Amino acid sequence: MKHQPQRTCLVCRQVKEKRDLIRVVRTPSGQIIIDPTGKANGRGAYLCRQVSCWQKGLQKERLSRVLKATVSMKDMAILRDYLQTEILNLE
Ligand SMILES: [Zn+2]
Repeated sequence: MKHQPQRTCLVCRQVKEKRDLIRVVRTPSGQIIIDPTGKANGRGAYLCRQVSCWQKGLQKERLSRVLKATVSMKDMAILRDYLQTEILNLE
C-alpha cells in the first residue's frame, strides 16, 4: 500500500489524505493563495472540501492566526471567491 501524506483540516480537525484537502498558503512574499498542487512554498493551512469548514475557516482573525500573517480584505475576497466558485459547486 502506497503511503499518502495526511493533513488535518483546521476547522473540523479531521485527518485526511492531503489530496482530499485544499491548501491555503501564505507565500514568502506575504500573499495568501489557494494551492491546489500542495507544493507552493510558504506556511500552509488545510481545509476539507466541505462548505461548512470553509465558512467557519474563512475568518480573518482565525486565518491570520493559523498562517501567522495578517490576512487582508483582498486576500479574504479571493478566498471567498474560491468558496463560491469551487467549493459550493462540489455539493
Ligand atoms: Zn474540515
